Amino acid sequence: MALNYLNLVGNAELMKQLNYAMIYRLIVQQSPISRIQLAEISQLAPASITKITRQLLNTKLIKEVDIQQSTGGRPAVSIVAKFDYYQAISIQLSRSHVMIELYNLGAKTLASKRFPLNDFSQQQTQNYLISLIELFCLEQQKKIKNLIAISVVMPGVIDSVKGIVRYTPHIDVNNWALAEILTEKFSVPIFIGNDVQSLALAESYFGTTQSVDDSILVRVHRGIGSGVIINQQLLMNHNQSACEVGHIQVNQLGERCHCGNFGCLENQVINVEIEKRARLLLEQGYKSKLTPSKCDILTICQLANQGDELAEKLIRSAGEHLGRAVAIMVNIFNPQCIVLAGELTKSPEILLNAVNNALNSQSLKQLRENLLLKCSSLDDRSAIGAFALVQQALFDGSLLMKLLDEK
Ligand SMILES: [Zn+2]
Repeated sequence: MALNYLNLVGNAELMKQLNYAMIYRLIVQQSPISRIQLAEISQLAPASITKITRQLLNTKLIKEVDIQQSTGGRPAVSIVAKFDYYQAISIQLSRSHVMIELYNLGAKTLASKRFPLNDFSQQQTQNYLISLIELFCLEQQKKIKNLIAISVVMPGVIDSVKGIVRYTPHIDVNNWALAEILTEKFSVPIFIGNDVQSLALAESYFGTTQSVDDSILVRVHRGIGSGVIINQQLLMNHNQSACEVGHIQVNQLGERCHCGNFGCLENQVINVEIEKRARLLLEQGYKSKLTPSKCDILTICQLANQGDELAEKLIRSAGEHLGRAVAIMVNIFNPQCIVLAGELTKSPEILLNAVNNALNSQSLKQLRENLLLKCSSLDDRSAIGAFALVQQALFDGSLLMKLLDEK
């Protein structure tokens, strides 16, 4: 793998791709920007900037605008990204739902549809997914002018390089070559990935971690997932899964986890475990506004915010366990920001306090001094994570060069 990469460095096509990608990314993230500024920041020759921006203009990925200078006189021409010419369909396959959304290149949702997902086999899910995309395209045909990609995210081990679903908790898959199947059907580039890793990427492009290089997102839902961003790029290992934070042991005497270990984080803080604990304590006579029939995670968060003692304790305890695992990650990765996502973040103050307490006692002082701890700013049930995969392919130049070649 390393050797292949070395071979590619000398490749002129790759150099071209990287330069176009860099200029496009600068325009998206720093617009309005002038050609002179682009040359200064990128260190490319002004002639190269002229050539690259001409092609991006022809491809309708950017546009020119007149900016009135503060000193008066003739307006200077600046460049901004053009977001509304192309669209992408982004899909989140969760355990019980399929969320299909249409985005423009500025990450704006143009349409959104939610469908139930039953206990399907791989083949049934595939047929269902294809029929839903076809229906969505038909319904949204006025908004879909130039479709450039379809992206799909789901929980599990997803090989995003080969486009194969290796494991996903709710469907019994056998090396499901989803990207290839959808490419044949819809004739556009297909991107697939893990839902939480993609959400971490989305935070770094559009959310709370835009201003930092290194961050970690941890999402608590039916399981626990995490995504590590280093140098504004998603950390991926050889089989595309990294940081199974849910199986860090946080309680030596905890219950047995489905992975075979005892006291895994996942067994302490996922929503159903918190709800189960609430029900148990209520049945044993704990005084609370919660009732055994109404103690879902959102109600627990809501009552915790109103000062209900049991609800508050449940969130705090989950936060402390979570904090233990987060502290380990801080010690290993030294990120600038930790982002928490999932229903628990509906009690942001109690949760962040509890995680912070654990961090203060269990992570290295130097590593936590300037560490930011935040709740996700994105809706983790939307398909924004899937759209982040399209953004990634534009920013690394792979999708960008396809668009340029087609023109
Ligand atoms: Zn486990």
